Amino acid sequence: MTGSKHLLETQAGTRVLLDCGLYQGLPDLEERNWTPPPVDPRHLDAVFLSHAHLDHCGYLPALCAQGFRGPIYCTAATADVAELVLRDAAGLQEDEARRAARHPQRHLHATPLYTDADVDKVVNQFVRIAYGEQRSDVRSCGLCLRDAGHILGSAIMEITCDGRRLVFSGDLGRYGRPLLHDPTPIAHADIVLCESTYGDRLHPPNDPRDDLGNVITMAMARRGVLVIPSFAVGRTQEILYAIAQLQAAAAMGDVPIYVDSPMAIAADRIMERHPEALRFDLRARFGPHDDSIGARHVTNVEDAADSRALNDIAGGAMIIASSGMASGGRILHHLRNRLPRPQDTICFVGFQSPGTLGQQLLDGRKEVRIFGIPVPVRAAIAHVDGFSAHADREELLRWFGGFVDRPRTFIVHADPAAAGALAAAVAARYGLVATPAQPLETAEV
Ligand SMILES: [Zn+2]
Repeated sequence: MTGSKHLLETQAGTRVLLDCGLYQGLPDLEERNWTPPPVDPRHLDAVFLSHAHLDHCGYLPALCAQGFRGPIYCTAATADVAELVLRDAAGLQEDEARRAARHPQRHLHATPLYTDADVDKVVNQFVRIAYGEQRSDVRSCGLCLRDAGHILGSAIMEITCDGRRLVFSGDLGRYGRPLLHDPTPIAHADIVLCESTYGDRLHPPNDPRDDLGNVITMAMARRGVLVIPSFAVGRTQEILYAIAQLQAAAAMGDVPIYVDSPMAIAADRIMERHPEALRFDLRARFGPHDDSIGARHVTNVEDAADSRALNDIAGGAMIIASSGMASGGRILHHLRNRLPRPQDTICFVGFQSPGTLGQQLLDGRKEVRIFGIPVPVRAAIAHVDGFSAHADREELLRWFGGFVDRPRTFIVHADPAAAGALAAAVAARYGLVATPAQPLETAEV
C-alpha cells in the first residue's frame, strides 16, 4: 500500500515506470522514501502516471532530482492537480527540514526529500494527453489513457508492447457518482495490474449525502460549529456538491460555510478548467452566483489572518479545512480551538490511517496532542463513511466483468489481506489466474 511504482521493461530494452508514488503512513513506511529506487532514474525512458494522489505521483520530484529527464505522460487534469499537490508536499518537506534545525532531538530529516525547484522539473517534463488518444512516442511501448473515475484526471492505462496488451488500473473510482464518470470498462488485455485498496471491503449502501445532512442538523442543534477535516483535492469539492444538493432540497438551513484551504480553492479552479474529466460542465450546471461547486453561503478563506478570525465564531457555522486525516495543515489550528468546546462537532469524511490524529479521535480518545500540547476532547466526534473515491470489492469485480479476454492478473497496491481477497474473488467469479504481487517481485509475461 502507498508508494506505487511498477517498472515495465520491453524486449527492446525500453524502461517505463508506471506511477511514482510516495510511501505514506506510519514512520517506518515513510522512511522507505529515503532509500533510492532499485533502478537508476537516469536509465528510465518515461513515466506513465495514472493520477495525482501523492501515493502515486509524490516521488516524481525525487526521481527528477536523481537525474530522470524523460517525459511523464498523464492527462492534462492530472498534470494540473499533480503540480498543486507536489508543490504542497515540497513545502511541507522544506518546513520539516527547518524544524529539524530548530529541534535536533526530534530526529526529523535535516534536508528535504525534494524542494519546489525539483517540482519545476516535473512540471516541465509533463506530456499532457487526452483520454482515448493513442500515443506511440515511447519506443516499443504504446499508451492510451481511459477515465478511471477515481479523482479528477485519473486514468486507467492501456499499454501495448511486444505484441501484448497490458492494462494498469491505477486507482479505480466508484459507479454512479455525481461528479466523476464511472471507471471505463476495458475489453482486451493479456496482462492486468489491478489495485485492491478496498478489495476486501464494501462501502455502506446508504447515500453519504443523507448522513452528512444528519450530522449538519445535529451539529446545528447543539448551537456549535461543525468542523470537517477534508482532503483539499476532490473530497472538499464532493462535500460542497453534497451541501449544494442538501441546500437545493431545503434539507439544511442557511448555514455559513467557510472553506479554509487555499489548496481546495485552487483545486476548485482546476476542476472548472477540466470539464472533459467530469460528468458535466460545472459552469453550465450551476449559475454564476453560486459560490462553489453549486453551494451557497460559501466563503473561501485564503488569508492566514482571516483563517485565525474563524476562531471567534461561537456557533451556527461550518468550517471545512485540510488535511483530511488531521495530519497537518490549517485543520490542526481549528481542532486545537474546537476540540475542548462541548457544543462543537468534528466530522470526518474519509478513511483515517492508523496513527493519525483523525484515527485517535475516532477511537474516542479523551485527550490528544496537537503541536506537542495536550488538548482535551469535549466536542462531538462524527464520521460519515461512504464518500470514498475507491471502488469497493463489488465495484472492482464489476470492472473485471468488462474483459472479454482472460488476462493474467496481478493484484497490486493493497494490504496483503485485501490483495489476497480480491485475487481469490476474481479467480472464483471470472476464472482468471490472479495473484497478489509481492514487493520487488519480477514477472516475465
Ligand atoms: Zn488514488
